[in-house]
Amino acid sequence: MSLAELKELERLWAMPVYARLPVELVRGEGVWLFDDEGKRYLDFFSAFSVHNCGHCHPRIVKAIREQAGRLLGVSAVYYTEPALRLCERLARSSLGGKVFLGNSGAEANELAIKLTRRHAHARGVDEPEIVVLEGAFHGRTLGALAATPKLAREDLFGPLPRGFKPVPPDDADALRAAVGGRTAAVMIEPIQGEAGIVPIRDEVLVAAREACDEQGAVLVFDEVQTGMGRTGSLWAYEQTPVRPDLMCVSKALGGGVPIGACITNPELGDVLGPGEHGSTFSGQSLGAAAALAALDIIDDPELLRSVRVLGSRLCDGLRAMDGIVEVRGRGLMVAAVLAEGIDAEEVSARARAEGLLINVPAPSTVRMLPPLIVDESHVDQALEMLGRAVSP
Ligand SMILES: *Cc1c(COP(=O)(O)O)cnc(C)c1O
Repeated sequence: MSLAELKELERLWAMPVYARLPVELVRGEGVWLFDDEGKRYLDFFSAFSVHNCGHCHPRIVKAIREQAGRLLGVSAVYYTEPALRLCERLARSSLGGKVFLGNSGAEANELAIKLTRRHAHARGVDEPEIVVLEGAFHGRTLGALAATPKLAREDLFGPLPRGFKPVPPDDADALRAAVGGRTAAVMIEPIQGEAGIVPIRDEVLVAAREACDEQGAVLVFDEVQTGMGRTGSLWAYEQTPVRPDLMCVSKALGGGVPIGACITNPELGDVLGPGEHGSTFSGQSLGAAAALAALDIIDDPELLRSVRVLGSRLCDGLRAMDGIVEVRGRGLMVAAVLAEGIDAEEVSARARAEGLLINVPAPSTVRMLPPLIVDESHVDQALEMLGRAVSP
């Protein structure tokens, strides 16, 4: 189908919640995407950090093919090996407690909200509160939306769930002051992705850790975007001075297949009991097999070292570029703020014409989230194309 025909189908039948870009993508291979006319693009967007292994990685394709030919999935009321092996692998690689497998990032965060409220009620807190950071993005379902101050529009979607308390993302004292006896959890993205890649300062993370410890509240990290090697360690918290009690992951977890997970420390593993949570597709074998293959690829010291080295190369190149006034990020999660008068959407469109896909998370800001399998030459090519897009 032509792009014009697809636009007509969209106009007639698709809810208009996306401002789609005028390109039809038909195939992916490694760091490259191809459109319907055969033009190739260097993918420095990776669908918001889903394709950390690149597109159609042979090991992921093989795992999916084999699993699809054997068993797509059954209800989690039965035992299946991929799901339970994935639970073990996620817990052992991070917080060491127990795991619930879901389908998306928002659902993992919903579970974090439920679990930490359940934990607070068990401590005798009747009206538990969750402290969140302004600028955060935790998802679009009602609970996750209520935890996302920027999008929690009571006038559009109310009544929203109560019990969320936003504080500024860069104020350790305000955060400490917001945590009290009613606090069930403090929920933080260690690097805010949708805000335009805003790393939360160590001082704020330490304040959250200490305040949670004092009050018996749970420190939750939303690693939906930062996890799976994106920042140069398997999980972003490993490069901070704190360890969360509970962590939510999704996006790159399934190597491109939808899956999410909520992972606890040992103390919180049994907070939820039989019948208190569930999901039809929980632990479906297809996603679990793909996730095990994705972890095999990403949980590799050589690859993670390369993410840190190439992340520095990308940042250095951006800092040396005319028209860029600030560079933020860690590993291959990088944003560049453009000089006044340069329109980020226009830069993104010119980059696309050059053959480079990037994303615009905030005005004047472009975001780069390349597959973690990129090499030096891809980074250098991206810098060249971006340079021409910024200063045409
Ligand atoms: C994308 C994202 C979510 C939501 O994930 P979905 O799979 O779209 O529900 C939540 N938190 C963060 C940090 C994200 O980047």
